[in-house]
Order: sequence, then structure tokens, then C-alpha cells
Amino acid sequence: MPNITACPLDCYDACSIVYEDGKLKGSKVGDTRGFLCPHMNNYTDYETIKTPRYKGVEIGMDEALSHLSEILKESEKDKILHYKSHGNFALMQEVTEHFFASYGATLTDGTLCDGAGEAGIIEGRGSNKNMPLSEIAKSEVVIFWGRNPHTTSSHILPLIKGKTIIVIDPHETKIAKMADLYLQIKPRGDIYLAMLLSRFLHIEGNCDEEYLDKYASEYEDYYELTQSIRIKAILDDIDISLGQIGDFLSLIKDKKVAIVCGVGIQKYRDGADVIRAIDAFGVMLGLFGKDGCGVAYLGNSKEHITSPFHTKAKRVSKVDTKFENYKTVFIQGANPLSQMPDTLRVKESISKVENIVYFGLYENETSQVADLIIPAKSFLYKDDVRTSYSHNAMMFMNKIADTPYGISEYDLSSYLCKEFDIALETEGFYLKYFKNFAVVMMDGVLHVEGREDVVYKDGFDTDDDEFLFLDEVDLKMINNDKLNLLTSKSPKSLNSQFSRDKHVYIHSALGFVEDELVTISSDAGSVEFKVKLDNNLRKDCVLIYSGTKGLNNLTSSQHSYEGKCAIYQENRVEIARS
Ligand code: SF4
Repeated sequence: MPNITACPLDCYDACSIVYEDGKLKGSKVGDTRGFLCPHMNNYTDYETIKTPRYKGVEIGMDEALSHLSEILKESEKDKILHYKSHGNFALMQEVTEHFFASYGATLTDGTLCDGAGEAGIIEGRGSNKNMPLSEIAKSEVVIFWGRNPHTTSSHILPLIKGKTIIVIDPHETKIAKMADLYLQIKPRGDIYLAMLLSRFLHIEGNCDEEYLDKYASEYEDYYELTQSIRIKAILDDIDISLGQIGDFLSLIKDKKVAIVCGVGIQKYRDGADVIRAIDAFGVMLGLFGKDGCGVAYLGNSKEHITSPFHTKAKRVSKVDTKFENYKTVFIQGANPLSQMPDTLRVKESISKVENIVYFGLYENETSQVADLIIPAKSFLYKDDVRTSYSHNAMMFMNKIADTPYGISEYDLSSYLCKEFDIALETEGFYLKYFKNFAVVMMDGVLHVEGREDVVYKDGFDTDDDEFLFLDEVDLKMINNDKLNLLTSKSPKSLNSQFSRDKHVYIHSALGFVEDELVTISSDAGSVEFKVKLDNNLRKDCVLIYSGTKGLNNLTSSQHSYEGKCAIYQENRVEIARS
């Protein structure tokens, strides 16, 4: 069997993997640079579900599939929901949507991750083409704006040695401690900072006017909008000084700059505007279309790839899904009882579903309430193809071993398509179809054909090729006694997969002690956690890592204004001794 595959986790780096002597190792070719992160280094230590279950009783796979078929036949088509997320990230994963969409079931849209930011990018640029890692490698200054690369994208780290580093983050992370300039901004302050940076850049006469005249000619109007900010009051509010703004602008002057954004800055109702304002600052600097310059967020991992699957269907949001409207809910690669906002509502809603089918790798809150559990096959035991939202490589995920446990997404869909007389090509057909989008680059790495490394060289993808600036913003910081909730990614888990955290992290100035039991409350609910003290946090913040049990009792199921995205950090919280 071939020994080359790729990491299936929902992560920027999309590493290429070599399987040698029974071990998973990072490929030395391309952006993986010979190393994997702790999630993948310990991947095989985490026990997966091996045996299907129906109503709590272990059964064989054939029996499980026939239960699934019966359940679907007994449900009216418009009472079936397919709820899929990205616990397993690869192109063949969509084959299940092909079955459910063709059958007439309802699918989901919206996002628990990056959708608000993406909406802001598309509004400004007309599309979401990302600055890939290979271009960040050519920059002279890297600004990590709410991104913690040691946890979420460690393969950037070898690329930034010797560069000037600026970090903007309420949490003084490892990269913040290494930075040439660190701004410990107050949460929700990012849009103000981005607009003020554009304003001062303009005042100093350092905008790239030649570029702006060509590709963003409304920049004077945007400058006027930035003048609606009261400088002193807002700087005080967001905890940034004029001196820091000056230092920031002098560090980036006449340099190749990469602005690398994380998702935390857009987990608010106005998340689209936040990223659009950061994009606007990049435009004022003339960062687009040039080597080693740009704004990196999450690009579209399927850019230049068309789907062979039928996925047109009625869709409902995966942020506030009303499960009670369905008789049968098929959940794939997702753990909604932990990861959807407003857990109490989700619990209540899901408890009214007659048939919950869970198709996944690990036991979790959702598998515990499922009527039918169908174990999936991990990436080690099936063929697939993956792309990335942070670089342009395409990786073939070759099966590297056989297993008697679980079923692949293709085999499950193939069974269902036969049962319900729905057309489906062979697995080999689809794999070949996806692989045909790859071209070999000079360094031997496969890339998605047509994807550019330097994006927006000839202007933007808007109607007139020009960047569309924000023309109004709702500027109001909320200053009250409540604390800001941060829901960053944990170094030990990927959302609810792997080793999940159990603590709340706070600054010692709040007066609590290590391991003390506290109750954190928001408008949505309250939860008890043990305290871990972390003086790298701001005193007005409470950090509960994504994937921590109970976190989403505190979050509400409202959407961002744009992008149908969950807004985990919108709710403010209070802390009290339990
Ligand atoms: S860094 Fe990301 S892509 Fe690479 S092994 Fe870890 S989780 Fe997988």
C-alpha cells in the first residue's frame, strides 16, 4: 500500500504525512517541513468507536445499515436532517450530502467557525482568495492579529524566523512574548484599531496612493469614515496608546507586510465588519497583488474545484438548528451537543427527535444520546483527497492499512444510494475526478490547478475590480462590569476531539485562587469550572477553551449580522464563588 497520506483534521496547515515503521511522520516535502503537531503525533492513542450500537445494544455493521435504511424509510423526506460538520476534513466527505440531497432531505449551512470573517472579505474583495504560507514566507513583517500560531498553525513558525513580528491579542500568547511589538487589545477593539491605523497611515501620507487610485478609489470616503472615531476616548477604551500606533506604523513602513488573522476577532455579531476593516488597512497599505504581502485568513479550500456531487438541497442553519422539526437527524463529523452555541436549547431541541443517528469516530456528548451509532473509518483506512484553506497544495490521502472496524463515507453512501435507487459513480471515479484538479509544481508538490500564490494581482473580484470599503459602521464599545468571554482553540484539543480542557482561565487580580470552584454566568446560562490562573490574560477576560465541557451553556444561538456564523464571544459573563 502507498505510505503517503494527509492529516484529516480541520486545521490551517493540512499536513502531508508519511507512514513509516508503524508511525505517522510529517512529510519533508512542501509546507509540512517534516513535523506534525501533538494532535497528529498522538492520534492513534485516542480510542475510536469500533462497534455499531442500536438503542444501546452492540450490533454488526450490516444490521446497523439496515436499521438506518428502515429509519429513513419510516421518516417523511422533509422530516430528515443531515447535520454535517468538519471533524473529518476531505473532499470525499461530501458524498453523504450527495445521498441526502438526492433523497430530498434537508442539509445545513452557516458556520460554527469563520463565516462572519469570510462574509466581510467577500464584501470587500468580491471573493475569498487567501495569502498562502509560501507568500507569508517572503514577507518582512508578520502581524498576527488574533492568531496564536503555536496552537493553531505551527507550520508558519519556521517561516517567520528573523522577521519583524507584531501581535495583537487580548491574551499574551507565546508568539506575543516573542514579538517586536505586542498590543494587548481589549476584546472587540479590533475594528477600532484597524480603522485608526488606516486613519493615521493616511495622516502620515503613507498610503499607497498609486495603488489606491487604481484599485480602491473610494479611499478618501473611507478615510472620512475613520474620522468618525474619537481618537483619545477610543484608544482609552481599547487600551492602546498613541505611542503604540506610532511604533506599529514605523515598523511596517516600506516593508513587505503579511497580516495573519485568526477567527477569534470575528466571533461577534459585527464579525464581518471587523475583518473588512483589517482588509481595508491592508488595501490602504497596497498589500494586495504583491509578492510577500497580503492578508491571510481562511481561504476557500475548494477554490477552483467543482463538486461532482449533487448537494443542492433545502438547508437550515447549523448555528440555531431546530432539531425538533425533524423525525430523523443524521449527524456526521460533528458534536452539536458540545460545539453548537446555547447547549441548553440544543439539548432540549435534540431530545424531541425520534431517531438520532451518529456517524463518527469518537464517543462524545452526541454519541451518548444517539439511537443508532455507526462508527466511521479514520483517514488511515480509506482513500480521499484534501486541500487546504491556508495553502494551495492538494494531497492524496492514500489508505495505509486495513481495518475490520467502521465504514467509510463512500461505502455508507453507496449502500444508501443502492437502497433508495439513487445514482452514484464508483469511488475510483470520484477520487480520479478530484485528483484531476492537481498539477505538479517545480518542487514536486501537487497544487490545485489555477490557484495563484499572489492573489488579486489585477484588482479585486468586484464588479469594477475595486475594493469596496465599509461605508458605515456601528461603533460602540460595551463598557460594563461584566467580563469578556474568550473561546480560543486549546493546545490539547481540536474543539471537542482529543484532550479536552476543564478549566476557566482568569487573571489573579480577579481575586480567585488556583483550583477554586467558580460559577461563570451569562444571559444564556451558568456553569461551574475550576480556576486556572493565567496572568497573561487581560484582567477583564475569562478564557474557556473551545471544546471545554459546559462552555456553550454560556453562549447564545444568535448569528453574526453577515455570514450566518456563530458568535461565541458576544455574550459577556460574570464570575462568582460557587
Ligand atoms: S498541524 Fe494541523 S494539519 Fe498538521 S498535523 Fe497538526 S492538526 Fe494536522
